[in-house]
Amino acid sequence: MPEPVPYLDLRAQLKPLRAEIDAAIARTLDNCSFCLGPDVAQFEKDFAQFCGAQHALGFNSGTSALHVALLLLGVGPGDEVITTPYTFIATSWAISYCGAKPVYVDIEPASFNLDPRQLEAAITPRTKAVLPVHLYGHPFDVAAIAAICKKHNLPLVEDACQAHGATYQGKTVGSLGDLACFSFYPAKNLGACGEGGALVTNSAALAARAKSLREHGSTVRYHHDELGFNYRLEGLQGAVLGVKLKCLAHWTAARRRVAGRYAELLAGTPLQLPTVAAGCESAWHLYTVRSLRRDDLKKHLDANGIGNAVHYPMPLHLQKAYAPLGYQAGDFPVAEKASREVLSLPMFPELADAQLQRVAEVVHGFFK
Ligand SMILES: *Cc1c(COP(=O)(O)O)cnc(C)c1O
Repeated sequence: MPEPVPYLDLRAQLKPLRAEIDAAIARTLDNCSFCLGPDVAQFEKDFAQFCGAQHALGFNSGTSALHVALLLLGVGPGDEVITTPYTFIATSWAISYCGAKPVYVDIEPASFNLDPRQLEAAITPRTKAVLPVHLYGHPFDVAAIAAICKKHNLPLVEDACQAHGATYQGKTVGSLGDLACFSFYPAKNLGACGEGGALVTNSAALAARAKSLREHGSTVRYHHDELGFNYRLEGLQGAVLGVKLKCLAHWTAARRRVAGRYAELLAGTPLQLPTVAAGCESAWHLYTVRSLRRDDLKKHLDANGIGNAVHYPMPLHLQKAYAPLGYQAGDFPVAEKASREVLSLPMFPELADAQLQRVAEVVHGFFK
């Protein structure tokens, strides 16, 4: 049988960077700045610049950055935050951690992102913020959503955990709302060697309070102004991320090449291939296709050594943990249909053309 094609290959990513990462880790061991520290501070500067924003703060996960983003906006018990039911659950956890209620709005079938045409109907006097996701690396409809937020005087938080380097009308995501959150989970487009995240904003006041919230609600050691958290990014992760950030632009270009190749190689199959909306550049975190025969296609790929995954098999409103919200099957039909049809194919910058051809060969074999 031909070589299997992995879904993701972090070894291939680390290999050419290994000496530089080893040196960065050694530097941290030498300076003993294990929690935040100079490498985190440098990375924060560089990442803010990458996003075209004034401030970036390192967090120990994307989830904790999302939690603090909502706390900064005063989200609390009794409040509602509007988000999408079709995302990784951490988006919604952040709302729940604040004691607020996630209010879901169905997605657009083409982009899998929150449908702006259904947003306004979900706004109530309790709505405190809007939290859409740039899913799979494709920007949500920023203009339409920001206009509705503005009209109702609601802050907009970008969940950019899958979209490092995506652009919307020429602007990099992370600088398009009031606050943006990124994840540096190893499998993300920019990944730490462990957990990590960032909160990005143009507001000096929000950044200052976020800094305090991530460090036990304190700006002066052992003086605590409010309930805070230990959400600091580790020094080792800051050092690693600093090395990897320099590669992000060319990794993103390579992902775009992979997506372009898939479009050529998979043309003519019954698969519905991902599209990119006008004015957008996707960061191609995932290459997610749709098929009415998804489950059988998945089995065929598994049997032929082609890595794949389903993002996501169950929308959030149907998750057991969210049963108390009282949603039912049928409430968000577009998201539910997507959950039955989507399949993510191998997508990482180092994918070789022979590997892409092998994926295509197996897919074509299935439909023959
Ligand atoms: C990964 C991810 C998160 C959470 O990030 P962690 O760093 O794993 O906590 C949140 N939202 C989305 C859309 C994600 O993909």
